[in-house]
Amino acid sequence: MQIAFIGLGHMGAPMAINLHKAGHTVRAFDLSQEACAHVKAQGLTVAASAQDAVQGADAVISMLPASAHVEGLYLGGGKSPALLAHIAKGALVIDSSTIAAATSQKVAQAAAAAGVDFIDAPVSGGTGGAIAGTLTFMVGGSDAQLERARPLLEKMGANIFHAGSVGAGQTAKICNNMLLGILMIGTSEAIALGVANGLDPKVLSEIMRRSSGGNWALEKYNPYPGVHENAPASKSYTGGFGTDLMLKDLGLSQENATAVKASTPLGGMARALYAAHSIAGHGGEDFSSVIKLLQKNG
Ligand code: NAD
Repeated sequence: MQIAFIGLGHMGAPMAINLHKAGHTVRAFDLSQEACAHVKAQGLTVAASAQDAVQGADAVISMLPASAHVEGLYLGGGKSPALLAHIAKGALVIDSSTIAAATSQKVAQAAAAAGVDFIDAPVSGGTGGAIAGTLTFMVGGSDAQLERARPLLEKMGANIFHAGSVGAGQTAKICNNMLLGILMIGTSEAIALGVANGLDPKVLSEIMRRSSGGNWALEKYNPYPGVHENAPASKSYTGGFGTDLMLKDLGLSQENATAVKASTPLGGMARALYAAHSIAGHGGEDFSSVIKLLQKNG
């Protein structure tokens, strides 16, 4: 299969590399030359533009930061032409970015009018899952569209869930990330309290991991430096999921809660804490750096 892959950041690059390793022809593109050079070094073909990347593609996959980037790419805006006009009729578009469900639905409608299948398939599992090819995909689209996408998703992920019609993948994703944002703060708070009392963060983390407080951060993504060798916390909070991306997702969950009149007080509090952390200059660091807000002398 010929695949165009747009957006080669922390997540997109390893996902594109896994498709290449699985034997697909991948034509990749990113606005960042550094990102392009990284995948080129792994043997992928780099296209000169997004329009160039989609020429002759059976499938197009995008992994971009936010709603505005996805809408701008496919529907055009400013000086950018609409990419949908360059995608072959009958091709499949899989957008794995985390964006507003309403944006996925808007792009899907325009895609249908252009004779292109569009599904939302946001992911969970972090950069580690992207590299290992064990991501969880949450798909919004029809049964037939999901079955078309499945062989590609299986090369990048280990769990594929059909959340519902287009946009439903995004709704599932923001529910999950609201929980993740909250649990990272709770985990950070507990570790910071233990350390302030003289406990060893590794010992405390292991006790909680095997107790009723056990969670994904304690399993794989400890916010305290040195507990998990491969976690962003042990790499000066680089290489993971940016604070500003978490802030975006918590904004999406709060907008959604307002729209459906749901009560999400902890999601609102988490958004406020990540916003304060970002304003303090940590927006580009991994979101687990939120522990700095809570540490004694931190
Ligand atoms: P990132 O900022 O590392 O990468 C985004 C890339 O998109 C950048 O390289 C940027 O240059 C590129 N880009 C932006 N606009 C473009 C355009 N018009 N054309 C081509 N390239 C363009 O972000 P990331 O961490 O890879 O996250 C991507 C998406 O996945 C986000 O929506 C994020 O919320 C979601 N996500 C991230 C993680 C994670 O752990 N990092 C986990 C799950 C989901």
